[in-house]
Amino acid sequence: MTTYLNADLHCHSIVSDGTLTPPELAARARANGVELWALTDHDEIGGQKQAAAAARAEGMAYLTGVEISVTFANETVHIVGLGFDADNAALEQGLAETRGGRGPRAVEMARQLELAGIPGSYEGALRYVGNPALISRTHFARFLVETKVCRDMGEVFRKYLTEGKPGFAPHRWARLQDAVQWITAAGGVAVIAHPARYRFSANEEYALFSEFKAHGGQGVEVVTGSHTNAEYITYGSMAQEFGLAASRGSDFHSPHESRTDLGALPLLPGTLTPVWELLAERIQQP
Ligand code: AMP
Ligand code: MN
Ligand code: MN
Ligand code: MN
Repeated sequence: MTTYLNADLHCHSIVSDGTLTPPELAARARANGVELWALTDHDEIGGQKQAAAAARAEGMAYLTGVEISVTFANETVHIVGLGFDADNAALEQGLAETRGGRGPRAVEMARQLELAGIPGSYEGALRYVGNPALISRTHFARFLVETKVCRDMGEVFRKYLTEGKPGFAPHRWARLQDAVQWITAAGGVAVIAHPARYRFSANEEYALFSEFKAHGGQGVEVVTGSHTNAEYITYGSMAQEFGLAASRGSDFHSPHESRTDLGALPLLPGTLTPVWELLAERIQQP
C-alpha cells in the first residue's frame, strides 16, 4: 500500500480520555477523508469492537489500536500497538495491570490539589470519566478548566499535574519490554508514540530506540499532532537509522481541545516505510 495514504493511527475516545464515542470518531475520521483508521485508547481496548464495526459501517479500513503507558528511564513513554488480536488474553491482562494503579493515583492527585487550595477535584474529574477504570490527568484538567482555575488545557499542564507542580503523583507504569511483548505476542506491531514529547537526553533517547528495537518494536510515529515540521524530519531520519517503519496519527482527543483534527496532517514522506505496509494482513477491510 502507498505511503501517501490518509491513515490516522492515533486517537482517543470516551473509553479513555477523549470526549467522543468510537462511532462519533469514525464518522469524523471518514468526513475528514481518513482511509485507514485506528482507535488507540490509553491502556484499554474496550472500545475496539465498536470502533471496528463503526469503521466498517463508514466504509473505512480499520486496524486495532491501543496506547500503552510505560516507564522508561524514570519518564513516562507511550507505546502504540496496532493490528493485534483484540481477544488476546495476555494483552488484556497486561493492560488491566497497567490501568490498575490509576484509581489510587487519582486519589493522591486530588489530595495534593486540595493542599494547594483546590477542593473537590476527584469528584469533579469523575464527572468527565467515561470509563471508571481509566481516570486520567486529562479528566482532572477538564475540571480545572471548567472551574476556571485555568484558562485551557495548556495552562493546566504548565501549572499543575506535571513533575514539581501541585497535583503530580509519581507513578510506575508498564515496563517497555512487557508492553512491546504484549503487542507483538498478540500479532500486532509496536510503535514509539510522539518521540519528541519526552524530555530525554540524546543518550536516553538512543537507549529508548535501541532497547525498543531489541525487544521487537518495529515502528515510530513520525507525523503526529504533537510534532513540528522540523521534528517530522528529525524522527524520519531516526526511523531510517534504526530500521523502523513510520506511523502517522493526530492524537485527537476532542473537537474543543485538540489542535490537530482526525486525518488533518501532512502525509508521510515517501522515503519512509509506512507501518501499514507491515500490517497488510491485519487490516480489516470494510
Ligand atoms: P495520564 O495518562 O493520566 O498521565 O494522562 C496523560 C494525558 O494527559 C495525555 O494522554 C494527554 O491527553 C494529556 N496531556 C498531557 N500533557 C498535556 C498537555 N501539555 N496539554 C494537553 N494535554 C496533555
Ligand atoms: Mn490522552
Ligand atoms: Mn500519548
Ligand atoms: Mn494519545
